[in-house]
Amino acid sequence: MERTLAIIKPDGVARGLIGEVIRRLEKEGLNILAIKMIWMTKKQAKGFYKVHAGKPFYESVTDFMSSGPCVVMVLEGEDGINAYRKLMGATNYKEAAKGTIRHDYATDIEKNVVHGSDSPQSAAFEIAYFFNELEIFRE
Ligand code: ATP
Ligand code: MG
Repeated sequence: MERTLAIIKPDGVARGLIGEVIRRLEKEGLNILAIKMIWMTKKQAKGFYKVHAGKPFYESVTDFMSSGPCVVMVLEGEDGINAYRKLMGATNYKEAAKGTIRHDYATDIEKNVVHGSDSPQSAAFEIAYFFNELEIFRE
């Protein structure tokens, strides 16, 4: 079993897609071990996406991520990181496979509804960024 950090981004929350995203990940067999709604400051968004510091989209994506509330979740499942990224689809919704969340709902390369960790290392950093161990349910 593997854990990953998932976010329903401000566009997804504002457009009423919380239920739809959760329905899809539960159907896929991913279990929610922790969940909360937060509104990041610009500084918190920059810390979260610090791997992208210096890239042309860094300022814009951190403005976007701090523009409204997000739902952050710890998910667990078999091959959890890849399983959830498969459900999300490619970063650019125009390249996302049919039936993925981004294919079906994203409107922009930046406003792409969901985030998911991309490696065990990033999952460990991102889970600890938002949750302490006491907030994460376990069997
Ligand atoms: P995420 O990390 O949010 O799950 P990802 O791993 O598919 O997405 P990254 O390359 O990590 O993609 O980019 C992080 C986020 O930055 C993207 O989800 C998107 O919101 C934004 N982004 C990435 N590339 C671009 C770009 N070329 N132009 C604008 N925004 C971008
Ligand atoms: Mg990423």
